[in-house]
Amino acid sequence: MLVVEQLRHRPGGRSLVQMTSTERNWAGNVTFGAAEVVHPVSLAELQELMASRSKLRVLGSGHSFNPIAGTTGTLVCLDRLGTAVELDPGARRAWVPAGATYAMICPELDAAGWALRNLASVPHVTVAGACATGTHGSGRSNPGLAAAVDAIELVRVGGELETLSSSATDFSGSVVALGALGVVTRMRLELEPSYDVAQEVWLEVPLGGVLERLDQVLGAGHSVSLFTTWAEPTTLDQVWVKRRVSPGDPAATGTGEPLDDLLGGHRAPSPAHPVPGADPAHATAQLGLRGPWYERLPHFRADAVPSAGDELQSEWLVSAGMGAAALDRLAALAATLAPAVLACEVRAVAADEQWLSPTWRRDAVALHFTWRPDEDRVSQLLHVVEDALAPFDPRPHWGKLSAMEPAALARAYPRLADFRELAERVDPERVLSNPFVDYCLGR
Ligand SMILES: Cc1cc2nc3c(=O)[nH]c(=O)nc-3n(C[C@H](O)[C@H](O)[C@H](O)COP(=O)(O)OP(=O)(O)OC[C@H]3O[C@@H](n4cnc5c(N)ncnc54)[C@H](O)[C@@H]3O)c2cc1C
Repeated sequence: MLVVEQLRHRPGGRSLVQMTSTERNWAGNVTFGAAEVVHPVSLAELQELMASRSKLRVLGSGHSFNPIAGTTGTLVCLDRLGTAVELDPGARRAWVPAGATYAMICPELDAAGWALRNLASVPHVTVAGACATGTHGSGRSNPGLAAAVDAIELVRVGGELETLSSSATDFSGSVVALGALGVVTRMRLELEPSYDVAQEVWLEVPLGGVLERLDQVLGAGHSVSLFTTWAEPTTLDQVWVKRRVSPGDPAATGTGEPLDDLLGGHRAPSPAHPVPGADPAHATAQLGLRGPWYERLPHFRADAVPSAGDELQSEWLVSAGMGAAALDRLAALAATLAPAVLACEVRAVAADEQWLSPTWRRDAVALHFTWRPDEDRVSQLLHVVEDALAPFDPRPHWGKLSAMEPAALARAYPRLADFRELAERVDPERVLSNPFVDYCLGR
């Protein structure tokens, strides 16, 4: 028996932790529009759905800001398919349920002595949803989350269950896949031994000095984030540095002296939040307090509303060597951007091999915008920012807002045509597509 939708939508359109509204996305700016919402409770039920529906999309935690997850047909939620993590310590791998959030699986991995190399700023997103859109954390030598996937299990249109390992011909096109190739049921993730991280924040960091040595600054920790509201164009409001702490280190406080010289500014005396005015209690622990990787790599606590709550987001990734020039170009637009921006974040992301990854074969600097929730103004500014970044060949984030047209997307993502061919091959009737995906694929 298929489980019929039970509405769990909170007034205001916001979802807490991993609770998914199946009417609208987390930001509340997209209505999914599904004729039916189904929560299969077994693989067999999912296979039956895939064999019988003519239009179907799968929803993760709904944290994307565009209609990528929408469908007028059947919206499938995997929240009742089980959350068992299957560890293979010898291979340093774990099969995890695709519909589980990172907040669900990470404590279990850690308890068994294992860790992931990187996490996004929110642990609230599902593993499959994050990977499908090329979601990333940060770090000069840390690629996006999809790079940790070395096998996937998915149900194809028609109902066939298939496992693709990294040696499969289509694998590099199949993880960052926009939900267009099948419903992913499990993903196998590469692990490393569990580790601790300490996080510190610097305030009022001069932008000029950072631009002169951007690569060095973004490499100053396992993960480094620069934040600005553009209210003061010559100064970064905050620089967050997350460093791994070696096992013998009793505490991380005091380990950052060289950073004072590198960054300028001064260390935050109390916890900060990336969005000025938001409650620092919602952010992960700072002040050099060491803690497990999964409680420090995200900016936001798993049990709190992340980021501002009321917001829209966009992000473009440029090649690492262009990062400083691109950031300088944005600084020149500070007066235009500042009224619309809650916070901008700048991070390094390492290259990977996934065709639709925003860092496909390109080390990158990611330029992120958390916008005030004013859709008209943001729509205008998307063009302003994309015009400014055009000389730097930006790749937009698949889960956020962009105004880029199909021809520009095809230039930004050189393997887009290969991906379209793959999608046509495995789903010729376009059961799994929707207008957003068709638009992005130029069809
Ligand atoms: C507050 C906030 C902070 C964020 N921080 C970051 C960040 O630090 N870095 C970053 O890169 N992004 C970030 N994002 C963007 C976010 O990571 C992406 O939008 C991501 O896709 C969200 O995952 P989800 O589970 O909500 O996916 P959804 O938005 O629900 O779905 C996204 C896509 O994945 C597909 N999908 C979902 N599950 C499956 C499945 N089982 N099989 C096949 N396809 C599937 C859907 O069909 C859809 O196409 C942030 C978003 C928010 C709201």
